[in-house]
Amino acid sequence: MDLFKALGDHNYEQLILMNDKETGLKAITCIHDTTLGPGLGGTRYWTYENEEDAIEDAMRLARGMTYKSAASGLSLGGAKTVIIKDTEKKVSEEAMFRAFGRFVEGLNGRYITAADVGTTEIIMDHIYQETNYVAGTGLKPGTSGNPSPSTAHGVYVGMKAAAKKAFGSDSLEGRRILIEGVGKVGFLLAEKVMAEGAHVIASDIFEGPRKRAQEAGCQIVDADDMFSVQADIYAPCALGATVNDDTIDQIKAAGIKVIAGAANNQLAEPRHGDKIDELGMVYAPDYILNAGGLIQVADEFNGGYSAKRARMSVDRIYDQIEKVFEIAERDGIPTYMAADRLAEERIAAVRGTRRIFARDAKSIINR
Ligand code: NAD
Repeated sequence: MDLFKALGDHNYEQLILMNDKETGLKAITCIHDTTLGPGLGGTRYWTYENEEDAIEDAMRLARGMTYKSAASGLSLGGAKTVIIKDTEKKVSEEAMFRAFGRFVEGLNGRYITAADVGTTEIIMDHIYQETNYVAGTGLKPGTSGNPSPSTAHGVYVGMKAAAKKAFGSDSLEGRRILIEGVGKVGFLLAEKVMAEGAHVIASDIFEGPRKRAQEAGCQIVDADDMFSVQADIYAPCALGATVNDDTIDQIKAAGIKVIAGAANNQLAEPRHGDKIDELGMVYAPDYILNAGGLIQVADEFNGGYSAKRARMSVDRIYDQIEKVFEIAERDGIPTYMAADRLAEERIAAVRGTRRIFARDAKSIINR
């Protein structure tokens, strides 16, 4: 890979390789953009075919975090870490993640880490032994805990904003909502919309989540035949890329007018976002809708977590989704593109203020 070209293409600030032979740590931290604040992004602990794949993953995910934080109105930049997992080698996770924590401390606040695929609260606790630049550890005073309730709440308020755009009212009463995947987020979302009087049709590939959803009052549909039912809103809350060549016409035929869910990367490709728009459906961009967990974690840096303050911030997802619709209308573009534009415009506007000198300038980590 031509590294500097890859960094230059999307204006990446920094790519850091961390190596500790003793503990087997091989970490890649990518800091994409810190205009709005320190780069926050989780640590993924995963196996990769080769180092290039791991670097690409770190870079792609870091850039995604820049957009997510910016479009969610957070004073955070975008970053991510990938730690290459060696399944052959027995390592002490405590030692390895403490070594990583020391490297993070060395970045002096440019990067804040958190849990991601393959890392847990316990791992964050190891990192916390060495640095304060970590969120989601159970040991830190004022920690925020499980992010799923905030994620579900954000999806709920964002869905309401999308409903307002599609139906002229943000009330979900009487709406038929098809939730794909009733796991940690999907189930809480189902409870919220049912409390408002919506009818939920839920699918899941596992019996446990299906049973729990049914007992809570959801109608259950077969995961392989989801779009055989008629619905107003489709909420993908399982895996990504479910809006694709195979499903898009089925989604339309099911009468769905709004796509608003928690899953990451719902559009298999950008052109599916164009198609949704052409078919007259409203798509609430995934990375804004599912930012509630990130907003919750970021609140830890406001001098300790406050559930009340975090909830107020998550409620603003409604406004952010409305801003996306305004930009989409203003520029005549689909909403997935408008979300990126919202992020880019905010970063560009704030970048302009960086010309003003301020000694020890304030940021989320030194309030
Ligand atoms: P989860 O694993 O708890 O729930 C996912 C559910 O989807 C599971 O019950 C699983 O059985 C089901 N499922 C998997 N494949 C399916 C299929 N083909 N059809 C129907 N059901 C299927 O995960 P979660 O934490 O609820 O997250 C859901 C989605 O939201 C994921 O894409 C995740 O990346 C995203 N997300 C979650 C959070 C969070 O705070 N948990 C934050 C941001 C984004």
